[in-house]
This record gives sequence, C-alpha cells and structure tokens, in this order.
Amino acid sequence: MESALTARDRVGVQDFVLLENYNSEATFIENLRRRFGENLIYTYIGSVLVSVNPYKDLEIYSKTQMERYRGVSFYEISPHIYALSDNTYRAMRTERKDQCILISGESGAGKTEASKKILLYYAVTCPTNDHMATLGECLLQSNPVLEAFGNAKTLKNDNSSRFGKYMDVQFDFRGAPVGGHIQNFLLEKTRVVHQNQGERNFHVFYQLLDGGDDDLLKALDLQRNPQNYNYLVKGNCPRLSSVSDKNNWKVVMKALSVIGFTEEERVLNIIASVLHLGNTQFGEGEEGETYITSETQLNLTAKLLGVDGSALREALTHKKLTAKGEEMISPLNFEQAVSARDALAKSVYGRTFTWLVQKINQSLTVKVHSKGSSVIGLLDIYGFEVLQHNSFEQFCINYCNEKLQQLFIELTLRSEQEEYETEGIAWETVQYFDNKIICDLIEEKHKGIISILNEECLRPGETCDVSFLEKLEDTLGGHPHFVTHKLANGKTRRIMSREEFRLLHYAGEVNYNMTFMNAFICLKRIAATQFKNSLMKLKEILMSKEPSYVRCIKPNDAKQPERFDEVLVRHQVKYLGLMENLRVRRAGFAYRRRFEAFLQRYKPLCPETWPNWHGRLADGVSTLVNHLGYKEEEYKLGRSKIFIRFPKTLFATEDALEA
Ligand code: ATP
Ligand code: MG
Repeated sequence: MESALTARDRVGVQDFVLLENYNSEATFIENLRRRFGENLIYTYIGSVLVSVNPYKDLEIYSKTQMERYRGVSFYEISPHIYALSDNTYRAMRTERKDQCILISGESGAGKTEASKKILLYYAVTCPTNDHMATLGECLLQSNPVLEAFGNAKTLKNDNSSRFGKYMDVQFDFRGAPVGGHIQNFLLEKTRVVHQNQGERNFHVFYQLLDGGDDDLLKALDLQRNPQNYNYLVKGNCPRLSSVSDKNNWKVVMKALSVIGFTEEERVLNIIASVLHLGNTQFGEGEEGETYITSETQLNLTAKLLGVDGSALREALTHKKLTAKGEEMISPLNFEQAVSARDALAKSVYGRTFTWLVQKINQSLTVKVHSKGSSVIGLLDIYGFEVLQHNSFEQFCINYCNEKLQQLFIELTLRSEQEEYETEGIAWETVQYFDNKIICDLIEEKHKGIISILNEECLRPGETCDVSFLEKLEDTLGGHPHFVTHKLANGKTRRIMSREEFRLLHYAGEVNYNMTFMNAFICLKRIAATQFKNSLMKLKEILMSKEPSYVRCIKPNDAKQPERFDEVLVRHQVKYLGLMENLRVRRAGFAYRRRFEAFLQRYKPLCPETWPNWHGRLADGVSTLVNHLGYKEEEYKLGRSKIFIRFPKTLFATEDALEA
C-alpha cells in the first residue's frame, strides 16, 4: 500500500481542499500545472475527481493498476479514475444504493476516455455472472459501435462525441454486471449534410468506404473515394492521420457481432442511401418548378431505403398542404427541394442512430432477474460550448450544462449537509452562486425562453426571428441574465448585433444568433420541448442516485502532450464551476477522516496510542490530538470521523510523522 495518506503527493496537493489559499484561482491552477508536469493527471476536490487530458498514453491503466485500487480506501492511494470507480462500486455494494458518475468537460477534455476506463474497470474486476459471462464484453463493445455512428472528427477532437450519453450498468446481488441500458441525447444531425472546414461527417461513412470489401461496396453501388460524395466533402478533410478508418471498420463489425446484432445489412443500406441522397441533384424548370437531374442516385436511394422511387421523387420536389380540409400538392422551389433532401438525410440518419441504440439495449437487457440488484449510471455529456455563431444546438447544450451544474450544487450541498448531520456537527451556511435563476429563465412555464419559443412557432409568419426577439425582450427585459442589443448599454451594445440575444450562463456569456436560431426554431420546436423533458427525466434519474463526479480538463488546443495552456485551463476551471465546488467543500473543514484511519496513521505520534489503542476510537483520537496540541477551533469530532478545519494542522501532523 502507498505510504502517503492523502496530504501531499510528489508535487502539489492531491486534494484541492488541502490548499491553504483555497479561494485563489491562481493557486488552484498552479497545483494542477505542477501535477500535470509530473504526469499526475488526477487530483481530488473532496470526492470529485479532476482529470487533465495527458494526450499521451500513460502506463497507469493496466490490470496491475486495477488491482492496486481494488478495495482500497479512496484517500489512501493517489487519485485515479480507478479509485473513483472502485469507491462508487463499493458504495453501491455496501450501502445498497444506486450510484451515478457524472463526467463533464469541454470537447476533447477526455470524458469518453474516462467513461471507457470506468467500464473497463468494472468489466475486469467485478465477478462475472455465469449466465451472463459476455455481458461485460457487450457493454465494452457498445462503445465502438456508438462511436462509429455518433462520433466525428471536429477541430477540437478527432473523435468527438456528437451526442450525449447516459448509460446504466446493472449489477446483481453478488456484484456481477448483469445488464445495461443506454439513453442518447440530441445527436448533432446537421453534420450528416454539412461539415465545417477541417471537420468530417460521422466516422461510419468513411469506415464503410475504406474498410468494406469490394463486393459489399458493389452491392451498395458505392465508390471507395469519399471525395465522390457531396455529404463527405464539405469539410475538405476525408482522411484522418490519427486513426485508420479501415481498421476501425473491422473493430465495428466485430463489435456488432459480439453484441449479437443481426441487421448489418439494413444499417449499411441506410448509410449508403444517405450518401446517394446527398448526390441527388436538382434542376430548375422554366416556371420555377424543380426536378431531379440525377435519376440514378434517386433510384439507388429509393432501392436501398426500400421505398418507391416515384414517391421519393414526389416527396423531394413537392409539398403537401392542407387548406380548409382539402389536400393540395404544390411544387417546391430549388432551395426548398435542397432542404427537403437534407432534412430527409438528417432524419433518416438520426432515426437509424436511435434504432441502433435500441438494438444495443436489447442485447444489454437483463435476462436473468435477480433480487437486490443495483445500478451505476454513467453520464458522458457535452460540455459548455461557445462558438463564433451559437445556434439552437449550443443553446440546448448549454442549457443542459446549466441543469447539471444546478444538480451538482444541489447534490454537493445536500451530501455535505447530510454528512454534518450524521456526524452530529452543526451545519455552517455556505455562500454560493445558485444558478436556478438561469435554469428558470430558460425553462419556466409561460415565461421561460423555451415556452416563448413554442408560442412563437404556433404563429405563422416570415418574421419569426424578429418577433421572437421582441417577445423575449418584452417578457424578459428586466432579467439580470438576459441581454439584447436594445436592452444593453454602452460597452456591451457595441459588441452585440441586433439579431442576437445574450445569456449570462453560470459559466460565462454566450450570444445566440437569431438568424441561426430561426432556421431551427420551427423545425425543432418539438425538439426543444422534448429535450427539456428528457433533461427533466435525466435529472430525476440522477437525483435518485448517489452521485460522483469526474471533471475533465483539456490542457491545450493543439491536442499535444506536455503542453499546459494556463489561459485555456482557467476558462475551464470557471466553466466547470470548480472554484465554487471547492468553496462549498471547504466551507467548514478541509479534511475529514474516519477515526480508525486517522488513528492508524498517526498513532506513533503519541505514547498512549502507540502501538495500539484499546479503548473507544473517539477517545483514542481525542487523546492523540490533545497530545499533538490541536486547539479547540482547529478540529471537531463527529460520530465516526474527525474534521480538521485547516490544512496546516494536518500538514504539521504529517511533518511530525516524517521527522
Ligand atoms: P467530446 O466532447 O468531443 O466527445 P471528450 O471529452 O469525450 O470530447 P475524448 O474523446 O475522451 O474527449 O478525448 C479526446 C482524446 O484525448 C482521445 O481521443 C485521446 O487521444 C486523448 N485522451 C483523453 N483522455 C486520455 C487519457 N486518460 N490518456 C491518454 N489520452 C487521453
Ligand atoms: Mg466524447
């Protein structure tokens, strides 16, 4: 076992609560930086794990390492994702309470890698259930499949998850994983038809073209070169240097067979149909009517989707209206036809993704029901996002983060309060920023942004964006977290355009552009409400569980090892609310430890407790700290733990031990 109990690692402190100057962001970041320099990428804030992406393979994830963390108390060994995994697992087993691990951080910070390491830890270290020996394998193999269909190369991350994921792992009474369930959120469907410069479409398209054998491509009427497909060339970036599409294709196919998936053909037909659909072109007739100029592509698409060719043609070039109870068919103009085509591609892809998740879920369904089973949930969800132009998708993502922050504060405070209560220590009020006000601004009935958005979409009219903005101004004018050009003053006004509204999120300010929002609003009206509802449901699920947190930080934008960009890190420390978290955690006591552990470590410092204390544990600790000269204001004894107010008290004791 490692010698350091908790206090200091080779460098810095391994728990931020032990920073003397815990209100200083600079001290916080310096501690992170020094540790990062020594490849110590993990640090705690109490029970929260902060992780900095090393962008290189560290030899800390082996089976031997897993064994080191198994059954060992959280603080008695250096911080690690395995320590958190193990601790969560044991809490589930001993307290018989469902757990969840919430992983957050911005794109490229290492959330998905963290979630995979947690799953791997369980798959390797947990007992296996005879009936379900392969379940652990199925859980692990769901990742490459979901990544192929839901991840893409972006400027920020070569393997960026373009959907949010919540996964439940179910364990039986013996602690063996017996089932799982995945819930997906808001896939970024726009990517199917458009990619920004330097970005790619979802991996699966390139994997199929690069890895599929000749016969398969022939059957799907596909050519190997991605450059031939309109939907794959928007970002000018068909190849990745960091991964092999060909190899990953094999990995995905194998994963599908491990999962027991039998409908590859259907999925591949759909993937191919999307590519053909993207190559379906339109022409404009004399009267402004639109017709299809690439009949071959159209027919291929129809064949692969299993629909009638002429019905598809009709759907792409005409719209159906119902006026006064009568159905009318009217032609679409060129732009409308293009957007109808793209909308179809997005929708087909999006539904396929959801269907795939359902199929994976079937393979993870608990087949043998056992009594006394419990659950560990894993949430890997996109972090707070600020782009140059922020639209509906960023709005949803940031709203989601706002909700999770609220949950985080609520639950951290709740668990602190509960611990004080069980230990019989008076609760000391904590000053913190409650972001409920921003959540309400977005989601409140009748006067929240989503509600106004819904109302606005019920009214027909081309000026949806302008009237929406006015309506927002009328309703939310006085709100301290809502700003528009009209409502702003002086300095702010100059940097805002008339088409934007700004939300002051807990993590910072974001301007949402109405021109961009507008394109989505009416199309996605239902989506906004659905998203809100799914977040509410998620919150309920998480509230019913005991949470642990992994907060991931990206050290630089270059995806490179050994580089720690302080400005970038500072932003994330802010976005993740880490200082707030530390404040809540440090409000009362910097350090707390169970009597046994405390006595075990420090008993050599007092003749009465050495070599063994035979009386009540509390009396032993009391004798020990009296001997050490702890002052009354420096500590408190609870029912089972000692609480120490300042790090320096603990450090002095540690030093005495080393002397
Ligand atoms: P997104 O929100 O875009 O999905 P993410 O937070 O899920 O981003 P990951 O995909 O987990 O980010 O990580 C990005 C890359 O960083 C990985 O592909 C890997 O190269 C590297 N990385 C992340 N965590 C680790 C780690 N613990 N060790 C080594 N490399 C890592
Ligand atoms: Mg990810």
